[in-house]
Amino acid sequence: MSFDYDLFVIGAGSGGVRAARVAAGETGAKVAIAEESRYGGTCVIRGCVPKKLMVFASGYGAAVEEASAYGWDVQIGDFSWLAFREKLMAELDRLEGIYQRLLENSKVERFSQRASVVDAHTVKLADGTTKTAKHILIATGGRPVRPDLPGAELGMISDDIFDLPELPKTVLIVGGGYIGSEFAGIFNGLGVKVTQFYRGLQILRGFDEEARTLVAEEMRNAGVDLQTGIDVTRLEAVSGGIKVTASDGTVATYEKVIFATGRKPNTDGMGLDDTGVKLGAKGEVVVDDYSQTSVPSIYAIGDVTDRVQLTPVAIREGMAFVETVFKGNPTKPDYELIPTAIFTQPEFGTVGLSEEEARVKEPIEVYATSFKPMQQAFAGGAAQRMLMKLIVSKATRVVLGCHIVGPSAGEMIQLAGIAVKMGATKEDFDRTVAVHPSAAEELVTMRTPVRTT
Ligand code: NDP
Repeated sequence: MSFDYDLFVIGAGSGGVRAARVAAGETGAKVAIAEESRYGGTCVIRGCVPKKLMVFASGYGAAVEEASAYGWDVQIGDFSWLAFREKLMAELDRLEGIYQRLLENSKVERFSQRASVVDAHTVKLADGTTKTAKHILIATGGRPVRPDLPGAELGMISDDIFDLPELPKTVLIVGGGYIGSEFAGIFNGLGVKVTQFYRGLQILRGFDEEARTLVAEEMRNAGVDLQTGIDVTRLEAVSGGIKVTASDGTVATYEKVIFATGRKPNTDGMGLDDTGVKLGAKGEVVVDDYSQTSVPSIYAIGDVTDRVQLTPVAIREGMAFVETVFKGNPTKPDYELIPTAIFTQPEFGTVGLSEEEARVKEPIEVYATSFKPMQQAFAGGAAQRMLMKLIVSKATRVVLGCHIVGPSAGEMIQLAGIAVKMGATKEDFDRTVAVHPSAAEELVTMRTPVRTT
């Protein structure tokens, strides 16, 4: 049977674009891709990239204060959200252009419209045309969800932030995950009065307790009104903003409310159920270790599969898919020891097991040190504390986890992640000569465990 394409990819985010251009560019496959919104997807257009640029923007106030403590004659002026937003939009246009050119250069045919699945080998485009393909790859990502409560539609979601016509004076952020905690720091740094509600006991659930406790403390010290054990029960529009009733019965008005309460896979109206593609409880596409769905010719990668919602993971799933299907080399993505950074303020980088996870698995030694980094300590004022922490197996001496809170934690954890991934022992860390003076040197100079189990 002959098909229009060897591969039809639905969704041109990080995962879909990588799979499409590698399949076409490296194996000569005939590939098409459909995208209903913008090329680059969540990460490039309304996620990691604009978020990180906002993190940078929000750091200049503190940097100017620090510069002044170092003897510079400078004073912070006003932040122009509009000037920043205009530059941000131009940068996103530039990046989207790069994604489009990457596809073009790999001879991937682009359809800038929505596509859904008709059957195991057929895709229907929004303009009504159908295309056939030997393989279909679902890479449609996910979207933020609002909780189900009265007035929820009055709250924004993270997608809306980048289009704000002006910065609000006050904001309530609901949720204590990556997105909520990152934006609490961003808005706070930009001069917005931030309140953050988290329904549990401590934000960043699942991460190392000591590390997330320090992040929360320093966020509070920096001015975020972070409240835990509290949720929103009702939103009402009032003049000047949104009246919020909280689960403890208190009522307050905020100019904006942002829900950062998790994301949902984009499978609605995709025709997957009718085609026999099995979906899970959250609507995610159920796949095996090779990203194959219950329909053998249809695969899925990235957030739509709700495995690990991280761009580099989606990209690796895309690469593994091409290896498996187009290069005859069955390859499973590797989910072991994924380093990740949360761009809170302070920043948090982590790889491997938290102290709590490791402790229930085996006897461990915990090495940790907390200090004010040299650069900020010299400037004085309210310098944020850093944390460097290693979790070590008593039996094998292998470093099971590494957790860093503080400036450049994301950069540091990428490198520490290599050692941890290679199975480095505590003694391997100790054998490495310190880079002095640096904060990272603490990772190789901690001699005595602070706790053992
Ligand atoms: P998360 O799942 O990380 O966090 C959702 C937060 O909202 C949790 O604190 C959760 O509480 C809370 N929540 C969920 N439902 C409700 C509700 N109905 N009412 C009140 N609170 C609720 O989702 P995010 O949206 O923050 O991020 C999604 C994913 O995107 C992340 O898991 C991450 O993988 C990825 N991401 C990665 C980034 C990075 O690499 N730096 C940056 C941003 C996102 P509870 O803990 O109790 O469940």
